[in-house]
This record gives sequence, C-alpha cells and structure tokens, in this order.
Amino acid sequence: LRFLCTPLSTARTTTRSLVVSIQDMTELTRLEQIRKDFVANVSHELKTPITSITGFSEALLQAKTDQEYQRFAQVIHRQAGNMKRIVDDLLLLSSLEQANAHPTMAWTRIEQIIEETVQSCNYRFEEKHSTLSTQIDNPLGYELLCSGMLLTQALTNLVINALTYSPEHSHVLLACQVDDMSATFSVKDEGIGIPLEDQERIFERFYRVDTARSRSQGGTGLGLSIVKHITALHHGNIEVHSETGKGSLFIMRLPRSGSELPRLEERSESL
Ligand code: ADP
Repeated sequence: LRFLCTPLSTARTTTRSLVVSIQDMTELTRLEQIRKDFVANVSHELKTPITSITGFSEALLQAKTDQEYQRFAQVIHRQAGNMKRIVDDLLLLSSLEQANAHPTMAWTRIEQIIEETVQSCNYRFEEKHSTLSTQIDNPLGYELLCSGMLLTQALTNLVINALTYSPEHSHVLLACQVDDMSATFSVKDEGIGIPLEDQERIFERFYRVDTARSRSQGGTGLGLSIVKHITALHHGNIEVHSETGKGSLFIMRLPRSGSELPRLEERSESL
C-alpha cells in the first residue's frame, strides 16, 4: 500500500487541510514487474544473435579460405534472420496488443484461409520430408467474419510449431469443422508433445519448454502468444491437449459472425 498526503489550503481560508489517500500498489507493482521482465527478455533474445553476428563478422574479416568465408557468412545470415523474426514478431504482437486494435474483418471463405496457410507452410514440410494434410468438414463453402491475414498467420504459427516439434517424416493435420455458429480449427501432430505442467504457460511471451531446441529451430518464443491474441481479437478461444511423446492437438474455436463465444469446455477429440 502507498500512502499519499497532500496539504490543501486555499487563499480564502486559513484552515489547513490534509488529503490522505491510500493506493493499492499490488496491481501497479505486478504490471511494472511484467514490463521489466519483458524488457529483460527482449534484450536477452536479441543479445544472442547480436553476439554471434559480432563474433562471426570479426572472423569473416580475417577469413583465410573461401570455405571459411562461406561458413562465417552463412552464420551471420542465419543470425540476422533470427533477429528479423524476433523484431517482426514483436512488432506484430505490439500492434495486436494496442487497446484500439481493430483489424479489418471481412467475410472470408474458410477454404481460402486453409489454402493460404498450406501455401505459406509447404516448403518447410518439404525440407523436413513431412506431410501436411487438410480436412474441411463442410460441403457448403461456409464463410467466416475475420481478418483473413491474421487468421492465416495464427494457423501458420500452429502448423509450423507442429512441424518444428516433430521428427522428420511426420504428419500434421490441419482441420476445420464449421456450423452455423462457429468454425473450429484444429492442428494435430505426432511430435514430442508438451508436458502437462507447461501447457498453461506456453501461450506466455517467451515461454518455451526447451529454449535451446526452440532457438536452434529459429523459434522466437512469441508464436503462441501471437496466436492467443489473434484468437481473442476474433472473440474465440484456444486450447491445447498434449501428452509427452504422443503429439499435440491445438483447437481454436471462433464465432462465425464475430460475437463472443462461451469457453471451450468439451475435450471431444482425443490424440
Ligand atoms: P517458439 O518460437 O519457441 O516455437 P511458441 O510461442 O510458438 O514459441 O511456442 C512456445 C513453446 O511451446 C515452444 O518453445 C515449445 O516448447 C512449445 N510448443 C509449441 N507448439 C508445440 C507443439 N506442437 N509440440 C510441442 N511443443 C510445442
């Protein structure tokens, strides 16, 4: 608690008064701590690639062979890419977090969202000799009131995670079930899974189950936080069901016309 005492006297009166206010600092302290943690996390995340770029650019200046030159230049290129991804994700997150963030919503065909997601992920699947299949459970060509760009971004994050945290030659399913009220997207993988104790925290900024693994795959630790914000902007909700070693299933349910949904409760689909 913070006590504030402010003397109060006016020109007309000789009486001196004191205004005493008591402020509950719990929430302010919590917010200040979140802000400090965030700044520390961002600095730490950027420091890793910067240190690497600094070291390897010095080495590049002294490279003696073409092979050395190539190797050092490749590391610098990769680390610069990591930095770009972190900054891009931070900028997107910050724009999603603005109190007045109102993305442009338009009626969009669900097939189109799924197709664009597949297109943006396909080459990563080829690189890892894995397959991505899709399934849309509606023959009527339903539309959804959404920001197609943001929704594609959210689904892409989920699909790329599914691939990243799976071994080579694995399979990911991106599915959507639609009815008059809602569209339920799901992304299911056969990967390493997420321990139960981490499942609540993976949507937090920079939270990772295995930081080294995430970084080595080019992860920023911001992907699921972005997914959560995009889901909230569409008044939807998102859940994860996962078991270590058996894969993960992410379910995102959005109202078709943009009004609020009740919380997802039923855990209908098993892994
Ligand atoms: P990152 O860039 O590290 O992937 P995310 O915010 O997308 O960051 O995810 C947070 C963490 O959640 C990841 O570091 C990983 O530990 C875990 N995770 C996310 N998706 C999956 C998945 N499909 N399978 C296993 N672990 C996952």
